[in-house]
Amino acid sequence: MSYVQLRYNFRLYPDTSQREALARAFGCARVVFNDGLRARQTARENGEKYLSDAELSRRVTAAKSTPERAWLGEVSSVVLQQALADLNVAYRNFFNSVSGKRKGRKVAPPRFRSRKDNRQAVRFTANARFKVLDNGRLRLPKVGDVPVRWSRGLPADPSSVTVIRDAAGRYFASFVVQTTEDETMPPVESEVGIDLGLTHFAVLSDGTKVTAPKFLRRAARKLRRLQQDLSRKQRGSSNRKKAAVLVARAHARVADTRRDWQHKLSTSIIRDNQAVYVEDLCVVGLGRTRLAKSVHDAGWASFTGMLEYKAARYGRTFAKIDRFAPTSQTCSACGRLDGPKPLSVRSWTCLCGTVHDRDVNAAINVLAQGRWDNSNDRGAQVRPPAMVAPRGEAVIHPDAACSTRSVEGISVL
Ligand SMILES: [Zn+2]
Repeated sequence: MSYVQLRYNFRLYPDTSQREALARAFGCARVVFNDGLRARQTARENGEKYLSDAELSRRVTAAKSTPERAWLGEVSSVVLQQALADLNVAYRNFFNSVSGKRKGRKVAPPRFRSRKDNRQAVRFTANARFKVLDNGRLRLPKVGDVPVRWSRGLPADPSSVTVIRDAAGRYFASFVVQTTEDETMPPVESEVGIDLGLTHFAVLSDGTKVTAPKFLRRAARKLRRLQQDLSRKQRGSSNRKKAAVLVARAHARVADTRRDWQHKLSTSIIRDNQAVYVEDLCVVGLGRTRLAKSVHDAGWASFTGMLEYKAARYGRTFAKIDRFAPTSQTCSACGRLDGPKPLSVRSWTCLCGTVHDRDVNAAINVLAQGRWDNSNDRGAQVRPPAMVAPRGEAVIHPDAACSTRSVEGISVL
């Protein structure tokens, strides 16, 4: 039996006193995080050795009995310990990145948290005795029973809940649930490769071209206009504050709309295919223009994340092509490497006579490469792909795309 860890996100509606209690929790978690970071920085400047996780934890407990930090006792101690856990993970990621143990994009050292950060969050684990009550409210220690909009049920008891306040002033609960529920879909024959396109959001190896719907593009345009308005307002003025709220709201609306649309798209792709292969986003970023990246990048990361967790959940195969594979330069029919092509070239004819749509050809190559990688893992027999780049050219990007797994409701990014 395999376990799948899923995240379920729901909107929360805390009342005034609960909002105040949450503000205290956000503040205390921030202070504990920043105190820990400062203590480690000071130790380093003084040439002392790295302060252990246990030592930081001990200092937080000690701080509570000092007059300057006595108010830390007003929030659940689990919240404070989880803030330290975040700091410890941030340090470990940084160290592993420096030493090369962690592949991919370099990780920056931890930074101080600010009350002005767009996203404030605290995490309660099971031993903090948070509880979903029979009346549907979420009981949080030292906060109260907070109303939740349940858009679906939880399949099992959650192991933790993160409470988030976003830039638009909305509150969310993000539950982590470990599930063994067998939701495997009946097997199907077809497999698909996906090219994360320039002119299209995605192009499938069966020739389907997926474009972001009009309403989404319209909402994105409106957001851009509001952002321009904001940038023209004088710093510190009340007009600027008002404009910032409008931007945050429009941003949240675009994100919600995009998410709904991506959920539908990813569900149908997973339902219709036994295996789904996509290019690694880091590779996409390397090979393509800054413009395309800015237009689609955030969307791609969450979309491939959805494909990944839905595949795990419904018993499908999902894999990323993590090699620098020249998917748009190789003929998917004969395997000939045709050399780089400017982005304006939308179709081309190979010497073998095959006429290619640039993006569909790339998607077919993604599919072939994915099958090849997959068969190497399992020892099955498949036709070798048109192109295989040497392992030495591998570009691995483990974090951006696969960290978030959100299930319906509202994502919290
Ligand atoms: Zn050819």
